[in-house]
Amino acid sequence: MTKKVYIIPCSGIGKVYGSICRQAAYRVGNDLKPGVTAIECLPLIVKGKKEVVDELKKNKVITLDGCTALCAYYDVVNVIGEPDAQFLSTSVVQKNRDLKPEPTIYPLGENAKEVMEIFAKEIAEKVGELVDGEK
Ligand code: SF4
Repeated sequence: MTKKVYIIPCSGIGKVYGSICRQAAYRVGNDLKPGVTAIECLPLIVKGKKEVVDELKKNKVITLDGCTALCAYYDVVNVIGEPDAQFLSTSVVQKNRDLKPEPTIYPLGENAKEVMEIFAKEIAEKVGELVDGEK
């Protein structure tokens, strides 16, 4: 059976780069790769909720982080092990210097939305590779 790809964004609730992670996870799951992806709540993973941990171990996992603290990545490593891929939303701006996101979190500013779209496409590409690798 083809595995699902779980996308786990960090919970950077007060930071625009964390919000970009969450929005990108929704964009990939709802629009770019529906049907083969799912999202899961980071605090439930940290708590070690058995059903969640078992499900993630049976499938593929991508972590998304909004800064080099890498909360999603390290939390997943601690509970489940190395994810199949990890992404950092700030990397989009390192490659697109003209797209420094506005600090507004809700709603996201225009640059932040563009960063989120680029980020979501990068993640969707990786989802495609992980799903294809399972066929
Ligand atoms: S990775 Fe950075 S933005 Fe995300 S939850 Fe951790 S400290 Fe916040």
